[in-house]
Amino acid sequence: MTKKLFWQDPYLTECQAKVTSIDGRNVKLDQTIFFAFSGGQQSDSGTINGINVIEAVKQGDKEAIIDIEYVLEQDPTFSVGDTVKVVIDGEKRDKLRKLHSLAHIAYYFVEEKLGKLKVIGSNVTAEKARMDFLYHKPLNEVVPEIEEATNKFIEEGHEIKREFDSEKPDLLWWICETWKMPCGGTHVKNTKEIGKIKLKRKNIGAGKERIEMVLTE
Ligand SMILES: [Zn+2]
Repeated sequence: MTKKLFWQDPYLTECQAKVTSIDGRNVKLDQTIFFAFSGGQQSDSGTINGINVIEAVKQGDKEAIIDIEYVLEQDPTFSVGDTVKVVIDGEKRDKLRKLHSLAHIAYYFVEEKLGKLKVIGSNVTAEKARMDFLYHKPLNEVVPEIEEATNKFIEEGHEIKREFDSEKPDLLWWICETWKMPCGGTHVKNTKEIGKIKLKRKNIGAGKERIEMVLTE
């Protein structure tokens, strides 16, 4: 099982790790800071001992991340048991942290405004986050209100906490004030870090509404 240092400290951009398995260009480590696509959050970008990682693959179920396998761009120059240096793109991670936390906050303001909607998709990249809902009418009217409430809440500076599930060790809970949801992503510690944001509504088919979110500072 890979030890997930990105859960203990989502701000780390470098770590040492021991290589636990190599299969061609596929590598596993005893611990890592390098997030693998999970829960809609994009993988980090980075290197292992200077070699580019072209894919980070999560092994686990829907919410939990048990193991991570890294696919390298070229054959590894190290062996099982060696200590390697893992480095990730800190700027990309910074945006992923902010946008993922933003997506959660905006979700709760959507819920506050319109009640519980069925979420049919969500995605967080370093450029933007999005959430897709089943809803019978355009969200145009409410999106500015949700944006205003979200910006206000972010600016107030609320703490974001993470808690390990008492029964499932690889399941994390995201907690902010009275909100709580399972999430294995990387998040900011305080909403203030997110800065100003913008929301945009998009129609993606009959009865389907998308909200796109971007950082503006
Ligand atoms: Zn999440």
